[in-house]
This record gives sequence, structure tokens and C-alpha cells, in this order.
Amino acid sequence: MFPKPKRAVRWLKSAAVAHNSETLGYKNSDRKTASYPGAVFRYDERCASGGPAVWYGRAKYRAKARRLLILVRNLIFDYPTKRALRGLSFEIKAGTITGLVGPNGAGKTTLMRCIAGLDLLYTGTITIDRIDVADAPRDVHRRIGFLQDDLGIYEQLTVRQSLLYQAAAHGIPARDQQRRIQDATERLGIADRLNEKVGGLSRGLRQRMAIARAMLHRPKVLLLDEPASGLDPDARTQLSELLRTLGAEGMTLVVSSHILAELEDYTTHMLILRNGRVVEHCATRAPVGRARRLRVTLSQPAPGLRQALTADPQVQGVDLEGISARFDFTGDSHSQAQLLRTLVQSGLQVSAFHEEQRSMQSVYSEKMRGHKR
Ligand code: ATP
Repeated sequence: MFPKPKRAVRWLKSAAVAHNSETLGYKNSDRKTASYPGAVFRYDERCASGGPAVWYGRAKYRAKARRLLILVRNLIFDYPTKRALRGLSFEIKAGTITGLVGPNGAGKTTLMRCIAGLDLLYTGTITIDRIDVADAPRDVHRRIGFLQDDLGIYEQLTVRQSLLYQAAAHGIPARDQQRRIQDATERLGIADRLNEKVGGLSRGLRQRMAIARAMLHRPKVLLLDEPASGLDPDARTQLSELLRTLGAEGMTLVVSSHILAELEDYTTHMLILRNGRVVEHCATRAPVGRARRLRVTLSQPAPGLRQALTADPQVQGVDLEGISARFDFTGDSHSQAQLLRTLVQSGLQVSAFHEEQRSMQSVYSEKMRGHKR
């Protein structure tokens, strides 16, 4: 039935190339051929355990594929009167927090709905945890929590009833339901509102209830569309802390927002959309083990600064500018503290020593200026 392994790889590669050049062709059969360029191919609908599966053409990509939780390839989505997504491709690693940003109408909500398996009439490929969203949306729903911008709440139910309903819908065992609800509502600061009707809650409290509902089944991926909208300043700070904690616990988050300063508090990556296309997808902080750009400033000029820095093997690419020096540093935070101690002990008058980070706002503004409509 299926070509032998070597020939299968060649055949699937050509299918993938054909797929890429056919993105405007709306061929559903093509959509299923490739989910990672030249390497990851759909092989069979069902794996031995009975669940949906994809098969990875080369062993060396398997580990990478495990880390890539969300894969989007050549995604196109049309509303009846408007093309909202115009061939998006990107991938999101497990355990990251991605800020999804872009001007009004860029396609953020549409993209989230496609990833969540709610808008399935797209072309291209989306896989979540190696499951093709179009093929098995219900399997994807189990792995995803989604806070939509319109919340979708039942006004006549109490907060507890809404959450019990959600827990039952996700198949959480009855014995765990109350504990999960207590945990989620405490995290969102609404444990004292459990018996109030949702219809009587303020906009911000509804928002918190909807976030609690989205994370109740402890999904692998949490999609949050404008989660901070309607929240008061304290609740926003709490939300930032919660999202950071969820990220540290291993959950993968995609958060859309127009408030870049808030995203900066907790995101690890930024995905900028404009007019249905990806303008930029970059890390907002250096991954552990990767060189970081540090800057040291002295209170007065000192000729020994370069020599003191280059004596550390973890320092590279020193740029001196008057009383300041910028350099790449490959060590961890302990080595960074050790370097500062060494500089001070060598008699240099250090007045500032910090990591240089470009703000999300500056990256965003720069990319939007450089990107034509
Ligand atoms: P915002 O930041 O304002 O929430 P967004 O980035 O989330 O915007 P989308 O809501 O995904 O953008 O919309 C993308 C494009 O699709 C826009 O041009 C919008 O006008 C269009 N669009 C969205 N929903 C519909 C719809 N139901 N019918 C037709 N066009 C739509």
C-alpha cells in the first residue's frame, strides 16, 4: 500500500513541496501530507494505542518534534468577504509563553480559533502535540484551554455551576471536580464568588471566571485572547504572576494583547501578525545556555576594563564605548555575579551592570515600520 521507507521519504518530500506551492489551491488532501518541512509527514490516521498519530520521516527530527507543541504551516483562512490569514507558518515550543500581537484586524483571534479547532475550514496544516487539528478537533480540545474574547458564559448559572459544567464537559472525574474548582478559583482570586450568578458579576470578575474555566482541565496549551481586558490593576498583576507560574509548571501559553508592557512581564516569545501574515517571531528573552548581551558602566574611565572582561572565558565580543562596555556572556546568573565581583575586586568603579534587553515595544515598532501592508 505505502511506498518503502526510502522511497516514502522521497515521495512525501515531493508531496510536501507540491503542497507548499499549492497553498492557494484549497486541496484538502494536500493539507494532510506535510506538517514539518521536508521532515515530518502524516503517515497513518491511528497509532497502535488507538489515538491519532503522525509519523516522523527522520529520527533526528523526532526529539525536535516532541518539543514543538504547535506547528502551523501555510495557514490560510477566509471569511466569506475577507481573507483573514494569508499563509502563516510558525512553530511554538513546549513550555514557552508567546505574546501574540498586531494591530486591530491582523488576524490574532482568527488564528487562535483555528488553533483551537473552532474554525476548521482552513487550508494548510495545524498540529497540536502532533495531532492534526482538522482531523481530530476533539482530541485537540482535550489538550487546549481557550479564553475567547467574547467569553461565552451562561449568565443564569452560578460560578460554581459554570465550572462544574465545564469540568463535566472535559470528563474530569466527579471526585476531583470540587478540588479543581477550588484550586482554579483561588488562583484567580474568585473563590469567594462561587455561589454568585455569573450574570451579576462585573466585567473583570467574569473575565477571571472565564480564565479559571479555560484552565480547569489543566490543558497542555492555554490560548488566551486579551485576558487582561476588563481587569483592574491588581488583578492584572495577579494574572501576570499566574501566567508566569503556569509557564514555569510546563504549560504552553499563547496570549494575545495590545498591552506590550504587560506581555513583557511574562512572555518568552513574541509573534507579530499584520494583515494575516507573520511579521516577526522571536524570543523576548535569551533561552538558558544562550549568550546574553550584558552592559557594564564605570563611574570613571579605566584602561583595564577590556582586559578584565576578556580574562573571563564566558565573555565574548566586547564593545567599548567610553566608560561603558557591552559584551556577550554565556554564563548563568551565578557566573554573572562572579564576574561582577571580579571586576569590582580588580579596582574598577562599577556604577551599573545589567542585561541589555530590547523592549517588546521597540521591536514591535521597528518591525511594523519595516513591514509594508
Ligand atoms: P483585534 O485586535 O481588533 O481583536 P484581530 O487581530 O483579532 O483584531 P481578527 O478578529 O482575527 O483580527 O480579524 C481578522 C480580519 O478578519 C479582520 O479584517 C476582520 O475584519 C475580519 N473578520 C473577522 N471576523 C469576521 C467575520 N465574522 N466575517 C468577516 N470578516 C471577519
